[in-house]
This record gives sequence, structure tokens and C-alpha cells, in this order.
Amino acid sequence: MPRPILATVHPDALRSNLNQARERAPDAKVWAVVKANAYGHGIERCFDGLRAADGFALLDFDEAQRLRALDWRGPILLLEGTFEPRDLELCSRLHLWHTVHTTEQIDWLAAHKTQLPHRVFLKLNSGMNRLGFTPTAFRAAWARLNALPQVEEISLMTHFSDADGPRGIAHQVAAFEAATADLPGERTLCNSAAILRHAGSPLRGEGVTTLAADWVREGIALYGGAPDHPEQTAAGWGLQPAMTLSTRVIGVQSLQAGDTVGYGSAFTAERPMRIGVIACGYADGYPRHAPTGTPVLVSGMRTRVVGRVSMDMITVDLSPLDAAGVAAGVGSEVTLWGKATGGAVLPVDEVATAAGTIAYELLCAVAPRVPFAAP
Ligand SMILES: *Cc1c(COP(=O)(O)O)cnc(C)c1O
Repeated sequence: MPRPILATVHPDALRSNLNQARERAPDAKVWAVVKANAYGHGIERCFDGLRAADGFALLDFDEAQRLRALDWRGPILLLEGTFEPRDLELCSRLHLWHTVHTTEQIDWLAAHKTQLPHRVFLKLNSGMNRLGFTPTAFRAAWARLNALPQVEEISLMTHFSDADGPRGIAHQVAAFEAATADLPGERTLCNSAAILRHAGSPLRGEGVTTLAADWVREGIALYGGAPDHPEQTAAGWGLQPAMTLSTRVIGVQSLQAGDTVGYGSAFTAERPMRIGVIACGYADGYPRHAPTGTPVLVSGMRTRVVGRVSMDMITVDLSPLDAAGVAAGVGSEVTLWGKATGGAVLPVDEVATAAGTIAYELLCAVAPRVPFAAP
């Protein structure tokens, strides 16, 4: 028997989460963001659940190629655009739309020989100061692209730094409107947090009235993560987990008061208790910084990690199960995040928050040694 750790992707959850986005942004087309191998879920495993999306957004040519190999003929957007001039040949060949965020990328386009002119998304740096042209440089970039025979259509794009938090997006929306209001072209602004929290707020610009605009770009919410946890929860947003990480209890220890557990003796039993040893560790992608108290489900019942996460094993408290008379021992099902067999859910957000990180990182970090269930 293989080691019992297993990751399972839930296509129905992907479909349901995608529908949630459509309800929140009914007039917009939806980019399913599948960068980082669909946030660790696997592009091929997610394709069926996400094929109702209007397009796929990602960063890597390899991933774009894999989508074309799945016979996806619709839009694919490269969120970071091209990295060197010859990438444009792949864009032409695979029919990829690409973000333009630097003058170098415009130079490469101007020198590119193509029969098929390209669709580009011109990115405004509206305040995040990562990618994009500043508001003062934006117009000149637009005019240059507009004059190129290599460019067929220019769309307008920006990205929010604080859609999930208290600073919000008003300052960036104002910068976007000032730079683009009278320009033609489709617009895209919203990531998951903005879709959930701000999609209906007003936007001034050609052909649009709300922030959802022409396209929204949904990542984490498709996979069932709440971008603004712990202020909000996935269930509160109507989202379902698209990944379950599960394993089994492979050993049990009975402790006396004063006994310690694991490396560094980081946990000391205060009274007699049983602990389960489970087949999952940081080499599987579980966060090593998850402290005592991090939630975990055993036989669908909520309990906690105790002691330090090690490379291949984690120790969990069985006392809530023993107190409830729920039999637990070697072979009991353990849910690190996602859905237990009986239907209980442990949101990945809760594990991430306990470990001082975000769901995005945990989902992307599931290690290559973890097998995925066959679809
Ligand atoms: C990753 C990414 C998204 C999706 O972000 P989520 O928070 O996962 O929804 C949207 N837009 C851009 C430019 C991105 O890089």
C-alpha cells in the first residue's frame, strides 16, 4: 500500500465557485487564473471544472501550451507578458494574448514579424508599483501600440494591492479612471478579493459602469480560498474547497501528564491523553510553522496539531475523539484541509492563518511526492 497521503481535486467545487463569480459579476467575462499549475491543483485536473470560463490567465508558456494541448481554443492571457523577443513567436503560434507592461515589450512587438496581429493588455501601474506604466507614461505607451501594425486590439488593465484590506481600492480606481476613461478597449481590474468585495462599485470608462468591467481575473476564490480571511470565510462567500489533502493515522501513543512530543519537546501533555501520528509532514508541503493548536480533522472531527511538524509526520490530539466516544486509531482518516468523507469541511484558510501564511501558499506548495487521486 502506498503511503496514505493523498490530494484530491473537486471539479464540482471549481464549477460552483466559477458560478459564484458569474453571479457577482454578471456582465463580465471571467478569466480563470491558472498560474502556478492552477494554484497547485494541476491544470489538467482542473480543466474540466473550469472549462466554462471565458479564458485562462497564466504566466508560463509551458502552461499555455498544455491548455492548447487540452484543445482549449479560447482566450489565453499571459499575465506578465513576454520575457524576451522570441516569446512573440510563441504568442503568434499559440494565439496568446499578452500583457504589455514595459517599453521593452513594445520595442519587441515593433520588431516582430507576424501575419496575425496581436491582442494586448496594456497594464497601468495605478499604485501597486509592481508591473505597469505609470499614469504619466500610459498614454504614450497606448499611442505607440495603437500605431503598430503588429497590434490588433488594446485592452486596459490594472491590479489592486489592497482589495482584501482596509486601505481598499478607491485610490487605484481613481488613477485608472484618470488614465483611461476616454480610451477605447476592454477593461480588466478585479482579482478575487475585488470580485467578492467591490465588483458592483462604479467605474467610469468607455462601455463599462461597474468595476467588474469587461473581464474579471479570478484565482484563489475559484479554488475555494477566501482572499480576505480571517475577516471573511470561504463558506461566508459561498465558496467550496477545490482541494482536499488527506492522510491516515499510522501510529498512536498514550501519554502521561508531563510527557513531551516530537522534536524540541515542543508539546507537553498536561494530563493523560492519546495522540495520533499521521503520515504528512513539511516534505509534503504542510507548513512547518503550523503550531500546536492548528486545526485538523480526524474521522471528520475537529481537533488540533500538537508539537512540531516534522518532515514526514505530524502528531495530533485524539482527546476530543476519545471524549466523544469516536473510535480513532491506526487507519483513521485525517483531513489536513478540504472535505472529510462525512462532509465536514476544514478550510485551507484556517490552516494557513494558524501557520502565519495564506491559502495561496499552502495550495501552491503541495509537494511533488504527494499523489493526486485519479479524477
Ligand atoms: C494572480 C493574479 C490574479 C488572481 O489573483 P487572486 O487573488 O488569486 O484572485 C489576478 N490578476 C493578476 C495580474 C494576477 O497576477
